[in-house]
Amino acid sequence: MLEVAADGRVVDVVVVGAGISGLVTAHRLKCAGWQVQVLDANAQPGGVIGSIAHQGCLYERGPNSALDTTPLIGELVDALGLRAQWRQASDSSNKRYVLRGGVLMALPTSPGAFFSTPLFSTSAKLALLREPFVPRCPAGAEESIAAFVRRRLGSEFLDYAIDPFVAGIYAGDPEQISVPAAFPKLHALEQRWGSLIKGQILGARERRKLKEEAKNTAKSFSFAGGMQVLTDALAAAVGPVALGTRVTRLERDAQGVFTLHAETAGQPTRWRARAVVLATPTDTAANLLREHVGDAADALDAIAYAPVATVATAYPRAGIAHALDGFGCLVPRCEGRKVLGILFSSSMFEGRAGPGTALLTTFVGGLRQPQLPGLPEDEIGALVQAEHQALLGASQAPIFQHVTRWPRAIPQYTLGHLGRVARAEAAGQVLPGLFFCANWKGGVSVGDCIKNGHLGADAVTAHLRTRG
Ligand SMILES: Cc1cc2nc3c(=O)[nH]c(=O)nc-3n(C[C@H](O)[C@H](O)[C@H](O)COP(=O)(O)OP(=O)(O)OC[C@H]3O[C@@H](n4cnc5c(N)ncnc54)[C@H](O)[C@@H]3O)c2cc1C
Repeated sequence: MLEVAADGRVVDVVVVGAGISGLVTAHRLKCAGWQVQVLDANAQPGGVIGSIAHQGCLYERGPNSALDTTPLIGELVDALGLRAQWRQASDSSNKRYVLRGGVLMALPTSPGAFFSTPLFSTSAKLALLREPFVPRCPAGAEESIAAFVRRRLGSEFLDYAIDPFVAGIYAGDPEQISVPAAFPKLHALEQRWGSLIKGQILGARERRKLKEEAKNTAKSFSFAGGMQVLTDALAAAVGPVALGTRVTRLERDAQGVFTLHAETAGQPTRWRARAVVLATPTDTAANLLREHVGDAADALDAIAYAPVATVATAYPRAGIAHALDGFGCLVPRCEGRKVLGILFSSSMFEGRAGPGTALLTTFVGGLRQPQLPGLPEDEIGALVQAEHQALLGASQAPIFQHVTRWPRAIPQYTLGHLGRVARAEAAGQVLPGLFFCANWKGGVSVGDCIKNGHLGADAVTAHLRTRG
């Protein structure tokens, strides 16, 4: 692990952070022919991605699946030789439930189903007819997703479609999440076409040209061994990753060479590179920048995170009344429950639980109830079981339950977020050769991190080429 420091070798790029963002960036840089060293504080690569096999089940501590939104994902899967392990979510998982009045109702997936669903009232449905005539938000104005949806679609869609959806992605508060920052395509759709409905229909042609899939039609995927298969393969391809290596300080000399000071197993280590990519959460990036660019550090510190606990629970299948015929269910805030949503993990992908066993993944906390992930694990487990009983008719004791707490699970793209990101990125002007690539910019989903890893790597390549 000390090899780089010991021989004083300067590599082309050091990537700090071996989550999906850092690993994809490093992989693309390596494929472009650069010498890359990845460092991570954890004992294993993957960041929040972690798949665990236990008692015949395979559960995820972080993301359960990703959406196949860009051809870059398929290219990466093929480049890593993972095609045989690639798994698309079952057809039945197109069905997603939303809780209304204590009852799980399927989200409509076709215009016919939309008009007959009891999930939305007749007046809410009719209000959609006026959507094409609602004026655009003035260009340059920033709206929260709650204000945007209320204005264009009405408050019932906010409560029963968008609020649970925002909870599902950001574990966040729709009144605070910024449309241009968190939903740039929605923002662009309104700005370009003046209407979401018109834009959805007319924009489809453009997406086809770009070979991109809209998030509402893209298929969910994982791997036979879970999401960690992807990060393990990436880590092997860019490796060896220096694990257990916590970077504590960053310097740049007059020749433009960076030195990163770190601790590896309690010992100080040093890593030198011509360019550095910070692929870490904002707290690490802020700490490393504070002595160089105080304003960038302040901007990073102002990005809030939502805490989440994920709870994997295995039950005897016969002990759950619900058909579990879908992806899972989302829970709107106005329903007053203690969970954000429940994934029917063993229905989504084959082989996630043995015969006669059902595996559920439940999300607790978020900005809705930020105190819950801090409770003792047995209390979190008990409240989740009570919710399973109320919502799914789970009547037997779990076979096992495992709680993972993420005190800083998901960065919040709140109003003013794009300005904070721009202030953070201005650090690259003071420290040329410094780049950021992590889920606090450009999207939090695994697919967005993959896309941004490519873009980030290309920016580093352009920098290294100009420096010769
Ligand atoms: C519970 C949960 C469920 C999710 N579900 C989904 C889902 O179903 N689908 C989806 O698309 N997305 C999902 N997401 C979002 C997505 O998984 C994440 O946004 C993405 O994986 C983050 O990747 P990253 O590489 O940017 O950051 P991280 O995974 O956080 O990686 C950052 C890395 O930086 C390292 N690091 C930090 N400080 C230092 C330091 N000082 N020195 C060295 N290393 C350091 C950390 O150890 C870590 O490995 C979920 C996220 C969570 C938390």
